[in-house]
Amino acid sequence: MLNEKRKNNFDIAIIGGGPAGSSAAIHLSQSGMNVCLFEKKVFPREVLCGEFLSPEVFEELVKLGIDKEFLALHPNKINSFRFINDDAAELPVKFPFNAFSMKRSVFDNFLLSEAARRGASIYQPSEVKGITRRGNSFKLKFINAGSTEEISADFLIAAYGKQNILDKALGRNFVNARSRLNGVKFHINKKCLSSFDDDEIRIYAADEIYCGVNAVSDNDVTICFLEDRAEYTSSYRQHLAELMRRNKKFADLFNKEFFSMLNDLPVYGTGNIFFGKRELFKNGIFFVGDAAGVIAPLAGDGIGMALQAARLLTKILIHGIQNKTDRHELEGQYQSAWDKQFKKRLFSAGMVQKIILRNNLRRTGVALLRLFPWLLSEIVQRTRS
Ligand SMILES: Cc1cc2nc3c(=O)[nH]c(=O)nc-3n(C[C@H](O)[C@H](O)[C@H](O)COP(=O)(O)OP(=O)(O)OC[C@H]3O[C@@H](n4cnc5c(N)ncnc54)[C@H](O)[C@@H]3O)c2cc1C
Repeated sequence: MLNEKRKNNFDIAIIGGGPAGSSAAIHLSQSGMNVCLFEKKVFPREVLCGEFLSPEVFEELVKLGIDKEFLALHPNKINSFRFINDDAAELPVKFPFNAFSMKRSVFDNFLLSEAARRGASIYQPSEVKGITRRGNSFKLKFINAGSTEEISADFLIAAYGKQNILDKALGRNFVNARSRLNGVKFHINKKCLSSFDDDEIRIYAADEIYCGVNAVSDNDVTICFLEDRAEYTSSYRQHLAELMRRNKKFADLFNKEFFSMLNDLPVYGTGNIFFGKRELFKNGIFFVGDAAGVIAPLAGDGIGMALQAARLLTKILIHGIQNKTDRHELEGQYQSAWDKQFKKRLFSAGMVQKIILRNNLRRTGVALLRLFPWLLSEIVQRTRS
C-alpha cells in the first residue's frame, strides 16, 4: 500500500505499523500534520500476542473515533477470567469491565487502513534501514521495491516494537541485556478443543511457564505462553506438550484431533524478551509502544499501553510544534506523562509475572487468593492503571 500523493519531506515520520505506530499516525493526520509511516511487513500478518484487547483498547478506539468501525469487525467479547494452577486449583473472576479479543492480523490491518484513510502516507512493505540526524531534521533510508530511497522529517517516532536491529545502531541502553524469557503463540481450531467458553480468558500455569487461552474468532482460539528457560534446546511445540504434562487441566482442554495437527501448526515466537527500563527518547527520536517499554503479557495490556502512549506523545508533539516548543522540553513532558501513566502498572505486572513463574511463590499466592478472592479483582485492576 503506498499513497499516490507521495512527498519527500514530512512533519513527522513513524517507523512501524503496529498499534503504536498506526494510532500515532491517525492522531497526527487528524490534526493536520503531514505524516508518513513505514511498515516492513505486508499486512495482514500475524505477530506474537495473546490477542486479548483490554478495556483500555476500546477506550482509545473511541478517542480515535474508530470504535464503530472496530465493532463492525465483530470482535469476540470477553467478560471473565480464570486462573488454573498445576495443582488443579482454579481462581475465577468476573471482569468489572468488558474486553474483546481479535487476531492481530485483523486488528493491526484495521488500524493501519484507518491511518491511510485519514491521510497518512503509508510506505509498505518498506523497511527503514538507517536514520541520520542533521540539525533539527531526520533522514530515513528505506527499501522500497528493492531499491534504497530517502525521505526527511522534522520529528521521528520509533514504534518498531520490542526488539529491533535499529536499537543497536542507536546504541540504546538494553541492547546487550539477555533475558531467559521466551514467548510463543499458536492459533488452534476450536474443533481441536474438548470445550471452551468464548467469553472467558484463561491462564494455565506450571513452573516457569504460563499460558493464556482465549477465543479470537468463530473458528479459532489463541494459545500463547511465556516461559522462563535457561536453555532453548527443545522446540516450542515440545514446550506446549510439556505444559500439558505438568498441568492436567491444560491437557484436558485438547482432544485427539489436536495432536494429529500439532506438527503442522504455524508458530509465532521469540526469545530474549527484555522487560526492563528503556529510554523514551534518544538523539531526538521519540520511542512509543513496546519500543518504549514492554509490560508483562499476563496483564494483557500491551496493546492498550501502545495506544495510550501514542495518544500522550502525539498530543505533546502537536502542541509543541504549534507553539515552537524546545525539543528538550518536549522530551521532559513526554517522560513525565509516560511515567505517570505507566510506571506503577509495569511494576505491578512485572511482580505478578515473577510470582507466577516460580512454583513456591505461585502456590502460596493461589492459596491466599482462594482465602481472599476479592484480592484477584484488585490485582487485575493494578496491572492496568
Ligand atoms: C507473549 C506475549 C503475549 C502478549 N499478549 C498480549 C495480549 O494478549 N494483549 C495485549 O494487549 N498485549 C499483549 N502483548 C503485548 C503486545 O503484543 C505489544 O505490546 C504490542 O504489539 C505493541 O505494539 P507496538 O505497535 O509497540 O509494536 P508491534 O506490534 O511489535 O509493531 C511494530 C511494527 O513495526 C514494524 N517494524 C519493525 N522494524 C521496522 C523497520 N525497520 N521498518 C519498518 N517497519 C518496522 C514491524 O513489522 C511491526 O509491524 C503480548 C506480548 C507478548 C510478548
